[in-house]
Amino acid sequence: MAYDFDLFVIGAGSGGVRAARFAVGFGARVAVAESRYLGGTCVNVGCVPKKLLVYGAHYSEDIDQAQGYGWTIDGATFDWKALIAGKDREIQRLNGIYKNLLTDSGVTLLQAHARLVDAHTVEVEGQHYTAEHILIATGGWPFVPDIPGREHAITSNEAFYLEELPRRVLVVGGGYIAVEFASIFHGCGAETKLLYRGDLFLRGFDGSLRDHLKDELIKKDVDLQFNADIASIDKRADGTLLATLKDGRTLEADCILYATGRRPMLDGLGLENLDVTLDERGFVAVDEQFRTTTPSILAIGDVIGRIQLTPVALAEGMAVARQLFKPDEYRPVDYNTIATAVFSLPNMATVGLTEEEARAQGHKVVLFESRFRPMKLTMTNSLERSLMKLVVDAETDKVLGCHMAGPDAGEIIQGLAVALKAGATKRIFDDTLGIHPTAAEEFVTMR
Ligand code: FAD
Ligand code: NDP
Repeated sequence: MAYDFDLFVIGAGSGGVRAARFAVGFGARVAVAESRYLGGTCVNVGCVPKKLLVYGAHYSEDIDQAQGYGWTIDGATFDWKALIAGKDREIQRLNGIYKNLLTDSGVTLLQAHARLVDAHTVEVEGQHYTAEHILIATGGWPFVPDIPGREHAITSNEAFYLEELPRRVLVVGGGYIAVEFASIFHGCGAETKLLYRGDLFLRGFDGSLRDHLKDELIKKDVDLQFNADIASIDKRADGTLLATLKDGRTLEADCILYATGRRPMLDGLGLENLDVTLDERGFVAVDEQFRTTTPSILAIGDVIGRIQLTPVALAEGMAVARQLFKPDEYRPVDYNTIATAVFSLPNMATVGLTEEEARAQGHKVVLFESRFRPMKLTMTNSLERSLMKLVVDAETDKVLGCHMAGPDAGEIIQGLAVALKAGATKRIFDDTLGIHPTAAEEFVTMR
């Protein structure tokens, strides 16, 4: 049977765009449908605008610290609207780049919602398109627990478009988004509380880093409330929000941001027409080759819920394109040793095993830690300190994990990720000469 396309991709986010572009490059006839925004979550309401807001928020510290270097900055003020407008302009520019990337490479772009009809057919705006392979790359959507008054809360989606900086913000959650947005709001000048249901936020990261970041945020006057959760939210006539906590306390706020995880985006996708199984968490179940239980339909990225990071969605998109259209170049995605950063203030980044994971896996570990005041801050009033930590296997000398909290942690850990991937030992770290004076050199001078 002749299909209209070799590959039909649903969703022009990180994973979908990558799969489409590479497939077309390998000679396939490719269509992409996108219902909301080109570039997906990462470009529009994720990594990119988030990082721009983090940069914006950091200027409050930069301005303070500049005084230690002789600068007098009188009358500095902050304009949230200007920050959001600048961010919007940049995102619009990127939307245009994504459009050109797709259309210039020969992809047929349909800017509308797509619905699966059968194993080889997709419907877009009443038109049916057939394809030998269909790729679900529809990403995720914020999850908000079902509590009375949840309609008064916002998620990260709305936070990027707030018209005013709220005076008092409650952030609920203890994952990446909660910690990053608490840093953004606090840095921009809002009175910020973070409520997390457990003992300590950022579950899954190395314990020393989690403690360190907690201390640093407290030093900066972010109000961290652990073992706290909201039972209900009321809105007063003047617009003020009143959160009643499960322990009976009440907290007032002008904005409540829920950052309590993300669910797969399957709305109106037509899965009811097909045999596509979901896993126990509700994500699309796929095999090692990203095939769903209907083999002509594949899925990648946040919708399969393996690791919800852009580089992972990109790698999965690339793997699908190669596997379908350039099998001799196919390499499976390696989910080990994925570096990641939380763009809090200060940043935190990690690659490899945490101390807790290394011990749980039976490694006899040797730890190396360095805690110091970054040189740039020595002439300022800032009390911020950095932490670097290496987790090393005592028997093989292999470096199992590198962890850092401090300025540019993401930039530094990205480089070390290559060393870990290459299987570097502590001896190799020790034999590597540092770049002086940098913070990163600590990683090769810890003894
Ligand atoms: P998405 O990028 O979500 O793309 C899916 C696309 O499919 C969307 O554009 C959607 O509109 C479209 N779509 C859905 N259904 C349909 C349909 N039926 N028809 C047509 N189109 C449809 N990751 C990092 O690595 N670093 C970060 O710093 C980072 N920061 C983040 C900050 C925030 C606030 C959030 C929310 C996420 C962040 N992430 C970050 C995660 C990252 O954005 C995601 O992992 C990544 O975007 C997933 O890519 P994807 O292709 O699976 O899905
Ligand atoms: P996460 O899964 O990282 O964190 C969710 C948080 O919400 C956890 O602290 C969790 O607590 C808590 N939580 C979950 N359910 C409830 C509930 N019912 N009531 C109260 N608290 C709850 O999700 P995020 O929303 O922060 O981010 C989604 C994903 O997006 C991340 O996992 C990450 O993969 C990606 N991302 C990446 C970023 C980056 O690379 N810098 C930045 C932002 C997002 P508990 O720990 O107890 O389960």
